[in-house]
Amino acid sequence: MAAPLPAASGDDPCFAELIARRPHLSRHALDGLVMEEVPLARIAEAAGTPTWVYSAGALRRRLGLLRRALAEANLAATVHFAVKANPNLAVLRVLADAGAGADVVSEGELRAARAAGIPPSAIVFSGVGKTEREIRLALAEDILQINAESAEEVEEISALAAALGRTARVALRVNPDVDARTHAKITTGRSENKFGVAISDAAALYARMAALPGIEPVGIAVHIGSQITAGMAPYRAAYARVAALVRELRAAGLPVARVDCGGGLGIPYRDEPAPLPEALAGAIRGALGDLGLPVMLEPGRWIAGPAGVLLASVVREKRGATHRFVVVDAGMNDLVRPAMYEAWHGILPVAPEALVAPLSPAGVVGPVCESGDTFARARALPALRPGALVAFLDAGAYGAAMSSTYNARPLAAEVLVDGARFAVVRDRQGYDALLAGQRLPPWLGREPGS
Ligand SMILES: *Cc1c(COP(=O)(O)O)cnc(C)c1O
Repeated sequence: MAAPLPAASGDDPCFAELIARRPHLSRHALDGLVMEEVPLARIAEAAGTPTWVYSAGALRRRLGLLRRALAEANLAATVHFAVKANPNLAVLRVLADAGAGADVVSEGELRAARAAGIPPSAIVFSGVGKTEREIRLALAEDILQINAESAEEVEEISALAAALGRTARVALRVNPDVDARTHAKITTGRSENKFGVAISDAAALYARMAALPGIEPVGIAVHIGSQITAGMAPYRAAYARVAALVRELRAAGLPVARVDCGGGLGIPYRDEPAPLPEALAGAIRGALGDLGLPVMLEPGRWIAGPAGVLLASVVREKRGATHRFVVVDAGMNDLVRPAMYEAWHGILPVAPEALVAPLSPAGVVGPVCESGDTFARARALPALRPGALVAFLDAGAYGAAMSSTYNARPLAAEVLVDGARFAVVRDRQGYDALLAGQRLPPWLGREPGS
């Protein structure tokens, strides 16, 4: 047995708590931090850093927990993973093999879902800005459902489908005007947000959908925001409004085949109380159960977030004027959530001795030339030598998906762990690839590099 871990200073959860709450992670006396059966140090050796590492077991387990909660609430439900949370093809394939469909918001995500083997009959297309080209592709692929977000989009889908001799299965995304009480940048269900149609306009628009050529209205969709942790009240309020709308549509003789309940279920990044899938299933059952309709769910973060870490190396420790900084080789261009949402991510050292060493506060920062490139301000961490590995926890959703090449930093590699196996599932971007596609205009003469 390894020695007990030291307690964290302040209110942050200690290393032992962070590990215990993530069943795919464990600490070994010799190997240090291990994902499933693979030491993270071995992955860093094979793939370098920074590298995203995803646990196939955690992805399957979390999808399974969600589906079980829905089944136990007697809901006929399908789960459509929100590809925007993590569009890695290996991640999508793991989830597809475990029975998930996809919720996509762009042509690129639709192509990724198809490339991962998700059939069109399990794909939903959401989003406020679908282009004509994207609608055409959705029609050509004959996907399960397009979630329309405006009267204008409904007219456009109808015209394109009719011209192509197709019928689009369209759900109407409504904006229920509820406050999901999450970060302002990821709340979507207030009337001032750009998403969906006002619920007061929905019945008339749905009737119009039924009358238009090329459209089969299939139901109502709602998605009120992301990282929802403030209990089930916002969900209940939104679903109650959707239920009332469905009753109104039925009374008017309009067909409603299903309700798309969206995503948004939050996860505990630090130690905040976060709702369980059972609570969400209960909220759906309570508000929509009497309708006797199948439901769809579009979770992204809840499934993939806890399943991934961002593995980074310490470049050096730097003595600041007031305290020390741990400078790592991952930056805000890799994991933007702390800079963008003031997000807290657990940070664990990987080496076995570092997991039990004395702690002192440190700022953890990346190399990018922005003060916002700060992962943590006063985090209890051991002394870390150059080359020491750290893992940023809960980086499986909105991690690699939101990364960029800012500061001309190549995109990090991605690795999938499955039991005792691991594989690089996306190569680290090379410097040639980083510059590829750029050229100088002819009037500037010589080719780049010559
Ligand atoms: C982003 C999004 C989701 C997924 O949100 P999570 O918080 O990751 O569960 C689902 N549906 C729609 C329409 C979205 O835009």
